[in-house]
Amino acid sequence: KSTTARNIDGSINNIEEDDEEDVVDLAANSLLNKLIRQSLVESSHHVEVLQKDPSSPLYSVKTFEELRLKEELLKGIYAMGFNRPSKIQEMALPMMLAHPPQNLIAQSQSGTGKTAAFILAMLSRVNALELFPQCLCLAPTYELALQTGRVVEQMGKFCVDVQVMYAIRGNRMLRGTDITKQIVIGTPGTVLDWCFKRKLIDLTKIRVFVLDEADVMIDTQGFSDHSIRIQRALPSECQMLLFSATFEDSVWRFAERIIPDPNVIKLRKEELTLNNIRQYYVLCEHRKDKYQALCNIYGSITIGQAIIFCQTRRNAKWLTVEMIQDGHQVSLLSGELTVEQRASIIQRFRDGKEKVLITTNVCARGIDVKQVTIVVNFDLPVKQGEEPDYETYLHRIGRTGRFGKKGLAFNMIEVDKLPLLMKIQDHFNSSIKQLNAEDMDEIE
Ligand code: ADP
Repeated sequence: KSTTARNIDGSINNIEEDDEEDVVDLAANSLLNKLIRQSLVESSHHVEVLQKDPSSPLYSVKTFEELRLKEELLKGIYAMGFNRPSKIQEMALPMMLAHPPQNLIAQSQSGTGKTAAFILAMLSRVNALELFPQCLCLAPTYELALQTGRVVEQMGKFCVDVQVMYAIRGNRMLRGTDITKQIVIGTPGTVLDWCFKRKLIDLTKIRVFVLDEADVMIDTQGFSDHSIRIQRALPSECQMLLFSATFEDSVWRFAERIIPDPNVIKLRKEELTLNNIRQYYVLCEHRKDKYQALCNIYGSITIGQAIIFCQTRRNAKWLTVEMIQDGHQVSLLSGELTVEQRASIIQRFRDGKEKVLITTNVCARGIDVKQVTIVVNFDLPVKQGEEPDYETYLHRIGRTGRFGKKGLAFNMIEVDKLPLLMKIQDHFNSSIKQLNAEDMDEIE
């Protein structure tokens, strides 16, 4: 029996059901990233700005004071430990807080400060004395809405009269109930229901409309249409803001449909490189042989912290069981776990409680564990049709040039997979040396 799965790059893959690969769940990955995030993600690129009116002056700020925020909001920001605006906030905040309000489309990878920026904008525009919804934020899932709400509560800690309401499934509201909270965060389906069917929210009174995680949003059936129906009922003077971590054509088309006359801000991602990674491969006969090779290098890989990648859940589980039976302390990060369980495993790994983490592609995608210096490809990443999956190889092993440390990568290769490895070597124009697993002296 075969089933259809979506690849990381969005392409469709047919896979055997009993050999299931983890399927990418954009919303789950996004939540996981938020749960494990500890600090801002840096980028050495410049922020690109496209103004709707190129002749108007472009402001950027280096401090939060320059924004002339309400005292209680500034206090909230400092209480969160923010000292100065992030790179994207330097440009985005003056636009978002301008009078008259300006619309904005902003794209930068997760962790660069987008959420904090639009929450600051909502909190600064809200009138605490008016007891009805004034800011509306759409999020792709229940959990992401809650996560954003928590940040509103944190940043708005000293804005005592400002309150948040969640328009999410399970939060049952009777028709005609009077909502007195100023900020509403919810998923498109429930918000639509609250606005049009239950008449709980008067959209004509909304001042700030935020569409968060647009890339995840359009990935969910129906959410683009729901969002557009909501947007159409907003007053023309309402400020409209859209955020996305990625910017494929589909996201861009959606953004342009929903945000009129926008300013556009983009911050490119730090590119990954294999330059400072020493890559090796060990030729093996079959899976048991690969396992033996792994055991042979185990002493070297546990000098630092290592992530071992398998192609399927089943392989990852098998390997974990084998290693535990042989007395190694490893943990398994698998797609069967809830997002909270995954976050806690990653946290333990980060804290050094485990030195080796076994996982599949999808789980570890986009997870940045800085202290990992050793990566093992127990299985080579391949696409259907037996082509190497270059992008995934780079994501597993590559480091960002400026911030990354030196690293080691080991590939366990069955003989028939050697041509694939050679293709990878050619593709990246970087050498992958053969290693005799019994002779570890070759690794400096
Ligand atoms: P994004 O929405 O782009 O994923 P977030 O706004 O969630 O980014 O910010 C990522 C992390 O950085 C969060 O932990 C957040 O608290 C923190 N952060 C955001 N802005 C700042 C800042 N100006 N200074 C320090 N930390 C910040």
